[in-house]
Amino acid sequence: MIQKVLIANRGEIALRVIRACRELGIKTLAVYSEADVQSLHVQLADEAICIGGPKSADSYLRADRIISAAEIADVDAIHPGYGFLSENAKFAEQCESCNIKFIGPKSKSIRIMGDKSIAKDTVRKAGVPTVPGSDGPVESEAEAVKTARKIGYPVIIKAVAGGGGRGMRIAHNDVSFAKEYHVARAEAEKAFGNGAVYIEKYIQNPRHIEFQILADSHGKVLHLGERDCSVQRRHQKLIEEAPSPFLNADLRKKMGKAAVRAAESAEYQNAGTIEFLVDPKGNFYFIEMNTRIQVEHPVTEEVTGIDLIKQQIRVANGEKLDLDQGDITWTKHAIECRINAEDPARNFTPSPGTISLYYAPGGNGVRVDSHVYSGYTIPPYYDSMIGKLICFGETRKVALQRSYRALSEYLVRGIKTTIPLHKAIMSDPTFIEGKATTAYMEDFMARTPPDLF
Ligand code: ADP
Repeated sequence: MIQKVLIANRGEIALRVIRACRELGIKTLAVYSEADVQSLHVQLADEAICIGGPKSADSYLRADRIISAAEIADVDAIHPGYGFLSENAKFAEQCESCNIKFIGPKSKSIRIMGDKSIAKDTVRKAGVPTVPGSDGPVESEAEAVKTARKIGYPVIIKAVAGGGGRGMRIAHNDVSFAKEYHVARAEAEKAFGNGAVYIEKYIQNPRHIEFQILADSHGKVLHLGERDCSVQRRHQKLIEEAPSPFLNADLRKKMGKAAVRAAESAEYQNAGTIEFLVDPKGNFYFIEMNTRIQVEHPVTEEVTGIDLIKQQIRVANGEKLDLDQGDITWTKHAIECRINAEDPARNFTPSPGTISLYYAPGGNGVRVDSHVYSGYTIPPYYDSMIGKLICFGETRKVALQRSYRALSEYLVRGIKTTIPLHKAIMSDPTFIEGKATTAYMEDFMARTPPDLF
């Protein structure tokens, strides 16, 4: 039985895991960098150990120090959260070999899905549609151009080790392809230490619709429905909602089945997400699997009533899922706005600093997952997300009105945030009508005067 969990993360997700553990009667150990002494996760955990300097490479990415902390404090399990070491197969393996449960999938599944090109190949063999593209990574410029022509422009060049929207370039013809191919390789090499790239057809005006998976170690794989994450800036999500305003019951069923098959093809256990692009005609294509809990998981929690973090812990404990596919229902609509410390009026420049006043909204149908408070100083070393506002209600209209209302109450003084941007989106007819595709943000920013933020 898991009695004590180390949380190998920071920020709101570290708090989210601490809260779930506390409700389950499980003790928690926070690890933190020198820049996070003030952080709430350090204050709320039962114990805390400093693991190094402010830079992630000196602390949250130091698997050796995290494992040492786990051994010193005698924990049974490690929850990796998202980002940092959460999709690092070697780290999962180290935990396994030290007899510490990794609250996530087996290292083997992380390895399959961590290489986007192998992942595509694996799910395709299981009958899941994938975006037309190269068979694996392309080895030379000549081979790459030949493949791009065969697929037909426009194409997208993607890093096999990609993540976080980085290392992706679009090409419309041979000339731009030759340039973007080298840029993509160099970017991938720099960001991931692996310059390998593959090529896909560039789908125009798609929706990003992903399915939440939950699987136990006894062979049961369920899906908890979809999240529509089409509102993105530079391939990074800003708003997520469930259900998707685009899907009907038929397509949902088809995609849900495909998502389960994709997870089964990697012998997946624990929580994970199958991401699809859906074209305007309703054709859907697998793009990747995230082998961890995601930022936007609360949207699914609010529409299904299932606590995903508690389920992750139970599954890691070897318990059977006490749910069947038929038990999962979607009775509400939920929308999540990512609150980032960025200035939307100045090209989203990061805005770290001290929050002089913080007041989070509340009331019916409002959930705020955040680690910040009045007087908290945002360190410049990590990502800029300072919280998530999740609003839910019986219909999409209620969730929209509630989001606007809650955003109007949300006070964060001393720094710039994306709150005014979200307010503008919640009152934008295209978004209200449920018509946002991944092309939405660029269009919205082009037609919205920056002084509105
Ligand atoms: P990452 O792992 O970096 O997040 P993904 O493969 O998940 O990368 O893609 C992120 C986003 O990039 C997608 O949600 C979509 O907006 C865009 N994208 C990726 N592949 C394609 C494609 N083939 N056609 C059109 N857009 C794409």
